[in-house]
Amino acid sequence: MTAPLGRTPLSIGELTDERYGQVIAPGDAEYEAARTVYVGDVDRRPAVILRPRDAEQVARVVALARETGLELAVRSGGHSGAGHGVCEGGIVLDLAHMRALEIDVAARTAWAETGISAGEYTEAAAAHGLATGFGDSTMVGVGGITLGGGIGFLSRKHGMTIDDLLAAEIVTADGELLTVDEHHHPDLFWAVRGGGGNFGVATRFKFRLHELDGVYGGIMVLPVTPEILEAFVAEAEAAPEELSVIVNVWTAPPFPFVPAEYHGKPIILAVLCYAGPAETGEKVVDRFRAIAPPLADMVRAVPYPGIFGPADPSQHPVSAVRNMFIDRVDRATAETILERVTASGAQVAGAQLRVLGGAIARVPSDATAFVHRQSRIMAHLTAVYADPAEAEVHETWAEEFMAAIRQSDSGAYVNFVAHAGPEEIRDVLYPGATGERLAQIKAKYDPTNLFRSNHNIAPAVS
Ligand SMILES: Cc1cc2nc3c(=O)[nH]c(=O)nc-3n(C[C@H](O)[C@H](O)[C@H](O)COP(=O)(O)OP(=O)(O)OC[C@H]3O[C@@H](n4cnc5c(N)ncnc54)[C@H](O)[C@@H]3O)c2cc1C
Repeated sequence: MTAPLGRTPLSIGELTDERYGQVIAPGDAEYEAARTVYVGDVDRRPAVILRPRDAEQVARVVALARETGLELAVRSGGHSGAGHGVCEGGIVLDLAHMRALEIDVAARTAWAETGISAGEYTEAAAAHGLATGFGDSTMVGVGGITLGGGIGFLSRKHGMTIDDLLAAEIVTADGELLTVDEHHHPDLFWAVRGGGGNFGVATRFKFRLHELDGVYGGIMVLPVTPEILEAFVAEAEAAPEELSVIVNVWTAPPFPFVPAEYHGKPIILAVLCYAGPAETGEKVVDRFRAIAPPLADMVRAVPYPGIFGPADPSQHPVSAVRNMFIDRVDRATAETILERVTASGAQVAGAQLRVLGGAIARVPSDATAFVHRQSRIMAHLTAVYADPAEAEVHETWAEEFMAAIRQSDSGAYVNFVAHAGPEEIRDVLYPGATGERLAQIKAKYDPTNLFRSNHNIAPAVS
């Protein structure tokens, strides 16, 4: 079989496991599953999916893409909102077989191959009473979440995932394997902390680990009014940095723990996580319980991995999403959020609010490629729907919702943005000097833009 595109024809029959790792081509039993990504509206058929087993094989796959001219998509956990982990007619470099994790308990560091999921890493580290913070989902790949930044349950206390990144091994467009850290290729080390997969294939990351015996956390469901929402977010802002809160204002799905009379109606479904002693955590969380009697309260002392919901790999939602930062949730904003969530006809519609600050904000905005260090609250708007014919309705809902709650902050978080054109990438994700510096570094390490199945940073033209 020969793929039609590219400078040098790709002869799939000549690709061997020994040189490239596992080879999965159209017609192979694993092909359909291997080309499927998290988002349900991406249906791309790559010419071949290659699953290298080490950095040397990664470099060969990169060379193959360069020589054939075929599009290259790099996949870790496959959870990109735009489906960037798969491409049409090109080569997918899938890190599924690169999931090794070496934990140095005494040094409190770990070297992780980037195909490992956040959940696998978290479980293995927790066995030693240690943790590195990723996001709120166990299924995302350590590769994608780290390169975009990483905002999760430990971020207010310990910073973003990139703030715990000590070093990385990167295969660049010319096939070289570079070890980057503060002292070696510091420009590249700066860029991969927030700049996404633009600069090469990250094969391994070295992370700092924190001692964490357990957390006081879990799901709390509350009825919602503008007053309750305003008070809930205010409490999350006032709470000590040990506490991270994800506040979902949602039309309630038919979860067994949500009383039936609330199904389909707006509620607050919050996930609280206090990373400190349970007795103190309980006192802090009691302040949220006092806002309104919870409809469900599953917040308790648990091992850190117990804070994450069950993983369901069969879920492939189709949704309209918008990501933004806001400065505050005052009464008027809370009213607007409730109105808009209630107005949606989607299966599930909601606004997720995450209070930031703490250790995230203590890192200077130019220290990494994640520039939004002073942003106060991340708002993620989502409408999940089944019928593709409804796409426009839900996209309009999301766009108008975003405009209605826009305040002074014009930024957005790359890992939560689904689709972004060049202007949005420049002005919203990487504004000002950050974008300019990223473009220079892109020109140095990937001048031909081989790595472009991502929120793409165009190489600077000199
Ligand atoms: C259900 C869900 C929950 C989420 N929760 C959070 C959260 O709490 N906090 C948060 O910060 N984010 C969260 N995210 C966003 C998530 O971090 C991003 O979607 C991330 O890009 C997913 O990484 P992945 O490796 O699974 O995705 P992939 O689709 O495999 O990759 C995403 C992007 O990263 C690039 N990439 C991946 N691995 C590598 C690598 N090793 N080298 C070079 N490039 C690479 C890909 O090319 C692609 O551009 C969530 C996403 C989902 C779907």
